Amino acid sequence: MIVDAHAHLFPPAQARAREAIAARDAGFAAIYASPRADMAGAPELLAALRADGVDLAVALGFAFAAARDLAEQNEYLLAAAAEAPAAIAPFATVNPALRGWEREARRALAAGARGFGELRPGDQGWDPLGAEGRRLAALAGDAGAALLWHASEPVGHAYPGKAGGLSPTQLIEVAAAAPAVAMVGAHLGAGASFYLAMPEVRGAVPNLLFDTAAASLLYEPASVARLVEAAGRDRVLFGSDFPLRRPGAELRRALAGLDAEAAAAVSGGNARALLLRDRR
Ligand SMILES: [Zn+2]
Repeated sequence: MIVDAHAHLFPPAQARAREAIAARDAGFAAIYASPRADMAGAPELLAALRADGVDLAVALGFAFAAARDLAEQNEYLLAAAAEAPAAIAPFATVNPALRGWEREARRALAAGARGFGELRPGDQGWDPLGAEGRRLAALAGDAGAALLWHASEPVGHAYPGKAGGLSPTQLIEVAAAAPAVAMVGAHLGAGASFYLAMPEVRGAVPNLLFDTAAASLLYEPASVARLVEAAGRDRVLFGSDFPLRRPGAELRRALAGLDAEAAAAVSGGNARALLLRDRR
């Protein structure tokens, strides 16, 4: 079973309203103000999965600032997953800087959300190592849900949405603060895997996973094989960042250079066991 652990969905109404949303949400505007930034709905995602031979996608939300935008997107992702439960596993997004955010988080979990993300605390203005971050981790831990963080490389070229996620240091600190909660550092964790070579760091973050979303836009082809070597094959999840990248092409590139066992783990085994805690 092939799992794309990092895909994005928006309700068609938000795609149509992108200009209005961009005018009131700076984090959203940084990525989606440009009409060239695709915003896909469930039919597009399902068609891409079928065409590319991917069985299931983890559908992530965008870290909007406002409660109504978050609720509208969560509603859509949860409904899309309810209609296609074999192909879509929904994550919800919340803004822990808002009063009452825990109500929306619990509602989403009750409606089937398997985790929270893609989280961008820098855009929303809350501290992932502060009180909000602790409450979010506790809430996810109680529900057996995962947290997926945008990770921001401290070096390299600029791109829309680069900032706003966790630095590699923060990613390790956040994971170490709640080691029972599955955490994913998106985009190869912005390089955090290097520090797993330090025994005390590796021991402090047994819960820390890495996805390969948009690797082809950031890193040379051998980077995923190197990540598997550095982090271990049980910590790496294939993700595409659809619709920014096509799942099929990203998958082929991610698996190049992996042996059969590592390829099976990265292309779906880890996502089912660690991220979705799949009981199917
Ligand atoms: Zn991201």
